[in-house]
Order: sequence, then C-alpha cells, then structure tokens
Amino acid sequence: MEVAGRMNILVLNGGSSTLKATFRRLNGAPPPVPPAPLWNAQADWGRQPGKAQIRVGANGQRFERELDIEAPAAVLQPVLETLWRGPSKVIGGPEDIGVVGHRVVHGGHAFQQTARITPEVKDGIRRYVDFAPEHNRLELEAIEAAEQVVGPAVPQVAVFDTAFHATLPFYAKVYPVPYAWYERGVARYGFHGISHQYVSRRAAEILGRNGGAAGSAWQHGQAEPPAPPQRMITCHLGNGASLAAVCGGKSIDTTMGFTPLEGLMMGTRSGSIDPGILIYAVRHRGYGADQLDRVLNKESGLKGVSGISGDMREILAARDTNERARLAFDIYVYRLVREIGGMAASLGGLDALVFTAGIGENCAPLRQAACERLGFLGVQLDSGKNAAPEMDTDIASAGSRVRVLVVHTEEDWEIARECWRMMR
Ligand code: ADP
Repeated sequence: MEVAGRMNILVLNGGSSTLKATFRRLNGAPPPVPPAPLWNAQADWGRQPGKAQIRVGANGQRFERELDIEAPAAVLQPVLETLWRGPSKVIGGPEDIGVVGHRVVHGGHAFQQTARITPEVKDGIRRYVDFAPEHNRLELEAIEAAEQVVGPAVPQVAVFDTAFHATLPFYAKVYPVPYAWYERGVARYGFHGISHQYVSRRAAEILGRNGGAAGSAWQHGQAEPPAPPQRMITCHLGNGASLAAVCGGKSIDTTMGFTPLEGLMMGTRSGSIDPGILIYAVRHRGYGADQLDRVLNKESGLKGVSGISGDMREILAARDTNERARLAFDIYVYRLVREIGGMAASLGGLDALVFTAGIGENCAPLRQAACERLGFLGVQLDSGKNAAPEMDTDIASAGSRVRVLVVHTEEDWEIARECWRMMR
C-alpha cells in the first residue's frame, strides 16, 4: 500500500552465485546520497552445492542462516519473507512493497532504458540469454520467482547494465567485421552501466559543489563558477573492470563490448587480446568454445599472469617478492593507462577521472601508478589525499588540470532511483 509521496522500493541484484537485496523507503524525490536501507539481505550459494548462506540486516541487528536449496531462484522466497516475518520484519506483507527493481545485465538493442516488466519484456530478456548466459537466465528466474513471492499486483522493473551505453555513437557500436554480424546482434553494448551512471552523476555533483571542472582553482568573487565537467572517464575497477567516456552525462565510449570480456585486464578475465590468438588456440592447440571461455574468463588476467590470485590485495602483498605478481600489476597499470588514453581521445580531452569499485576505491598504489603516467593529460594527484582518501572526494592536487575523484559506487541505489523515476 502506498502512502502519498512515499515509495517502498525493493532492489534485487543477482550474480552467478550471490543475490543481494535492499529495501528502502523514499519519502519524496531521491536524495543524491543514498539513505541507509531499512533491510538488506545477501544469499550466497556458490560455496557448497545445494546450500545457501543467508545474511539479513534489519532493525539494528544481523541474522544468519543456512538453507538447503534446489536451484538459485529458490533462495528468493525465504530471503524475502524475512521482510515481513520474524525479527527482521519491516513491513506488514508483500502488498507494502511499492516496486521491485531488478538488475539485468544484458538488454541488447531492445532495451535502451529501464523497462516495466511485462510478458514482452521477459521475452526480450530471454532473447539475450545467449549473449550473457551467466546472467540473463538467472535474472529471468529471479524475476519469475519474485512475481510468485510478492504477487502480480506489485510492479517490477528491469534496470539494464547495458542501457547507459545506448548513447554510444553508431560507429562505436559496430565492430569492423562483416556488417551482417551487426544485424545479428554482434555489437558493442558495454556493461557496468548502472555503476557508471551513478558514479558519473555523483562526480558531477561533487565537482559542481566544489566549483566545477577547475575545482579549487575557482575564486569566490568570480562572476560564475565554471560549468561542471563535460568530459569524464569513470573507471569501474572491481573483479570485472571497465571504463566509460562520459560527455555531458552521456556515455559515448566504453571498453567492454559484446561481452564483459573486452577491454581492461581484470581479476581473472583477459580483457582485449589479439583475436588471432584464439584462431591459433583452436587450430593448433585443440581448444573448444568451453575451454576458451574458461581460460579467458576464469584463468587469465591478474590470476593468469601472476599464477597466484585474481585478487588485487594478494597481488599487492606479493609484488615485492614475486616477479610474476609484479608483472601482473605492471600489465594492469599499462592496460588501464592505455585504455584511459583511448577514452580521452574519444572525448577530445579530459576534465575529470573517477575511480570506483573495489580496486578503484581502495587501491592507492594503482591510482598513483596510473596517474603518474597520465601527467601528459594534465593529471596530477595529491599523494597525501590519494594515500587515504575519504569516499566521494577530489584527490587531485590544487593545480591539476584534470580533477581526480574517488567515488563509492552505489549500484543498488541507482536501481532504486530508476524505479522511482519509472513509477513517477
Ligand atoms: P566485484 O566486481 O565482484 O563487485 P569488488 O568491486 O568488490 O568486486 O572488487 C574486488 C577487487 O577489489 C578485488 O581485486 C580486491 O582485491 C580489490 N580490493 C578490495 N579492497 C582492496 C584494497 N584495500 N586494496 C587493493 N585492492 C582491493
């Protein structure tokens, strides 16, 4: 039940082995910084076959339990019931949910923006299962399971990771292969769009408040503060990693492509490599599709080069004593800087560079190493601020031509905002 101006929003964000859920109550338009959720839950079914660990936080307490489950979608009912039953209860029943927002990874050409879920929209999501097999199938199952649990009267909304990049110019979307491939759907879609959208808007707000692209260089008494930055590169560096070139709030280029395998070196993914390597592997090394998929997605990147781990913290810990860990770090920096250069060229210059996600937010040595190489673009870090930044701050030196920000990504909040926009 909705009280005027108030909206209860449940966000479901599923991965291949986890489901994160948050419940928030908005009393009017969403503020720029997310209010704490009233309830949040995480289910993890990747550790032990047939079992899921569930953690729920609400009413100032945390609860944990383990469940036997037959399929990933089966975690949804016991997780969601904790919203209206037991010590974590925050609402009277499912009818108190105003809208359910789902993160959907692949929206293909069909979904250029957030969509209210209908049978046609579900068919559309199903059409792209082959493009993102690890994601869209599970997300569709989550949508159908949520319908069962909350009932058909509660509207559901799909927020696509690809939609933010729908504004890429056509020449950036089409790969230089036979055009018929594009007609069959092979194109640059880009991913992490929900994060790039949140982080680019948040960075523009921070810089606007600080006085625009010139940051602290703006003097009080000047007629107008400079306009907020037009040309921004957002660096989402988590286990998966991608850049977006954002001009005036719109994505005009991005490093991930038809799949999340393109672009930067990642934790266990290769990023871009010469396609000739794949032909060689198939022709002379007997590789098939499944083996290539596994090697390039799970056994490459930091893990493949270092032989130690795909986790940046372990690479940092080992790099003083282990040559391959040092090499993995150096390749990561080199590839990042190279792709930032490409994005800056697409933008025709650079006003702000924004770091986010696990590595972007927490790995000061990586930011330092990358920014040192980007001095030629006018990037200059304040080393003190970089070493221990507060979240959502500018860490560039006062004289830096390009502002450098660290922004904590809030994908679930961005999905909630999209739900609010959709329902209004
Ligand atoms: P996901 O893409 O799965 O959401 P995250 O955004 O949490 O992942 O990012 C995970 C990455 O962030 C891992 O490589 C991890 O090592 C890295 N990371 C987290 N904290 C730190 C830290 N303090 N220093 C360096 N790397 C970190």
